[in-house]
Amino acid sequence: SINEQPRNIAVLSPRLANQIAAGEVVERPASVVKELIENSLDAGATRIEIEIEQGGVKLIRVRDNGRGIPQDDLALALARHATSKVYSLDELEALGSLGFRGEALASVASVSRLTLTSKPANQSEAWQVQSHGRDMATELAPAAHTDGTTVEVRDLFFNTPARRKFLRTEKTEFNHLEEVVKRQALSRFDVAFSLRHNNRTIHSLRAAHTQAEQQRRIAQLLKPEFMTNALVVETERAGLRMTGWVGLPTFSRSMPDMQYFFVNGRVVKDKVIGHAVKQAYRDVLYHGRHPCFVLFLELDSSGVDVNVHPTKHEVRFRDQRLVHDFLFSQLHRALADVRPENDVGSSF
Ligand code: ADP
Ligand code: MG
Repeated sequence: SINEQPRNIAVLSPRLANQIAAGEVVERPASVVKELIENSLDAGATRIEIEIEQGGVKLIRVRDNGRGIPQDDLALALARHATSKVYSLDELEALGSLGFRGEALASVASVSRLTLTSKPANQSEAWQVQSHGRDMATELAPAAHTDGTTVEVRDLFFNTPARRKFLRTEKTEFNHLEEVVKRQALSRFDVAFSLRHNNRTIHSLRAAHTQAEQQRRIAQLLKPEFMTNALVVETERAGLRMTGWVGLPTFSRSMPDMQYFFVNGRVVKDKVIGHAVKQAYRDVLYHGRHPCFVLFLELDSSGVDVNVHPTKHEVRFRDQRLVHDFLFSQLHRALADVRPENDVGSSF
């Protein structure tokens, strides 16, 4: 109250600072999986294995065959604001990696029992650090591991009961987590992924290089019927390039749950995009039905800001109108053959 003496100002302990940051980055097991997969992709992995127990609350283990972390850097990888991806402002502006804040591992480590094991190819042995939600109390120990990295996250939120309370059922948490894996697997056909839950294989996806292999991956991740009711899109105009698959009206959903749109490789949920797609389908889908699509938009990185927020899938286009008109006109044209003849082009 107003009559009380002012309290002294104190700098947060590293652990508390990390736990506060974790509140933003680590909402649920799915967010941990997203961060760990992004780290594996940033490390150039071509194979990522994800092992889950009890919806991710008991165990999340992500193993990759990427570059690895040198022994001397292992403890630092768990420290806040420690990253190998950005050393300068120039690098930040030309960023090509998915991560750069150096926050994910520190945040996850502060609210779980985390073990990080790694072996770069040029190092003869693997090493391991553990952190049990303490302040960087990490001890380096030798370990067994092939080239690459494994991050094991046990007992998520064990030391933050208030957060733990917000977790939903095992099934719901796993569904969120599987959705994250699907998005990543759709954005990187060149990487092999596997996902196991409670010792059961949910997805096992080999690297998909040809269009036929890519379509097989999509059929596995979405539904086989999507692939047999989809058109291939490949179009380019004014520095914008769109590729992918759009569902025919013969395969629609009562929920917008099979809509994947990637901008420069990152999954995006965006009003401008959503509106353009909806307009393009307007006269071919019944009211209340939603189209399915897996679409990739590529444009010069100066035309889009994808790092608006670390966890939300937002983008900011420099020229929204240009992007909207491109998406609408190209999708509208792709769907021309399934539109009643006299309607072709009439909504331009
Ligand atoms: P950021 O990804 O923003 O750099 P993180 O906390 O996610 O921050 O990771 C910290 C650092 O740990 C990374 O910059 C990277 O050097 C290293 N690292 C994390 N995961 C991996 C991995 N799977 N393979 C190789 N290096 C990794
Ligand atoms: Mg990261």
